[in-house]
Amino acid sequence: MDFHLTEEQQLLKETVRRFVDNELIPLESQSGAERGVMSEPVLRRLQEKTKALGLWMLDVPEEYGGAGLDLFTRCIITEEVFRSTALPFRDARLFGPEARAVLFHCTPEQKERFLFPVLRDEKLICFAQTEPDAGSDPASMRTSAVPDGDDYVLNGTKRWITGADVSDYAQVMAVTDPAKRARGGITCFIVDLKSPGIQIDKQAPVINGETTFEIVLTDVRVPKANIIGEVGDGFNLAQQWITQGRIQRHGSRQLGIAARAIDMMIDYAKVRVTFGKPLSERQAIQFMIADSVMELRAAELMVYDCAWRFDKGEDVRDLSYMVKITATEMASRVVDRAIQVHGAMGLSTELPLEWWYRQLRTIRITEGVTEVLRWRLGANLIRAKS
Ligand SMILES: Cc1cc2nc3c(=O)[nH]c(=O)nc-3n(C[C@H](O)[C@H](O)[C@H](O)COP(=O)(O)OP(=O)(O)OC[C@H]3O[C@@H](n4cnc5c(N)ncnc54)[C@H](O)[C@@H]3O)c2cc1C
Repeated sequence: MDFHLTEEQQLLKETVRRFVDNELIPLESQSGAERGVMSEPVLRRLQEKTKALGLWMLDVPEEYGGAGLDLFTRCIITEEVFRSTALPFRDARLFGPEARAVLFHCTPEQKERFLFPVLRDEKLICFAQTEPDAGSDPASMRTSAVPDGDDYVLNGTKRWITGADVSDYAQVMAVTDPAKRARGGITCFIVDLKSPGIQIDKQAPVINGETTFEIVLTDVRVPKANIIGEVGDGFNLAQQWITQGRIQRHGSRQLGIAARAIDMMIDYAKVRVTFGKPLSERQAIQFMIADSVMELRAAELMVYDCAWRFDKGEDVRDLSYMVKITATEMASRVVDRAIQVHGAMGLSTELPLEWWYRQLRTIRITEGVTEVLRWRLGANLIRAKS
């Protein structure tokens, strides 16, 4: 395996780096406590630029008008972009609408109704799997879907759902066969959030500033024509999407954050003088920088390897667990050290460090809590040896 970038990838990386330096990082000074919040007019202005640069709908296959990038190349871009804090942490709409991977499993008729409007940025869709009593263990979800004529009738409560307030649809995971659950008993429905029987309630914001929503479904009728994939496919589809997300969002994004935090640590250590000498001359500080660079390098190779294998069609589920844990814990340690080196300034909202610190803390819980990923990885490794 060779992770040297092709000429095309190198050019793309440089284009994105210039875009981040010239367009995103200057916006950070206006962010302050509102970091990671991009107003709609600013987003639209920047979207015109990403379109002009050919950075539009990066994940979307060329047949649907996207750039059709492989995951490895997409990771290189994400790594560059997340050096900046101007973008919302979860929202990648700067590079085009986010069409959840699951949507590509639509039938031609569903593509007309759901996929294309999402790709045209006319409709938004959120992902609703978690429930009050089923977070890390989604197979224990209670939301039920019972067939009735041409419809299914859904009852249940989804919680912690990002973007439910602005979305037109939700990809709702519901139990269609309680005896099977994760083994073919969970189905993915596209639910119109304006349907009778839907109630959406705002939840208290969490540590990273994000507000999520509870969706209560009471006798909500969803046409059978809104099932994505086959009945009972939902769990597998969701796992596929989450696996890819772990590599790109939780792997390469964390690389970008750590790289910039290390740059900031070095720059500050050179100019901050204590006890008559710059911090950069103190071994304690040099060790923090050295440890951070070593850990970043190791995580980088792991992310690249995993993305490369994914593009080759290998099953990378276990590797994706390693990527999410390693990259997120690495970036958390690096940002923590960078805060320490900056002293009080590191805690100030004037710098992005405290913001990253809060975002990274959140990521250790969302899309696969660390303990569950470690447990599954260990169990899979033991099973493979027996
Ligand atoms: C900001 C934010 C946005 C979110 N957005 C979405 C969204 O858009 N859609 C969606 O469906 N969900 C979303 N979620 C939900 C998120 O995915 C869940 O919170 C997550 O899966 C953890 O579930 P839980 O909170 O119920 O924790 P629990 O399952 O109750 O676990 C609590 C803790 O117990 C420990 N634990 C659990 N199981 C084990 C085990 N087997 N072994 C050892 N330790 C264990 C872990 O330390 C874990 O942190 C979001 C959450 C947040 C905070």
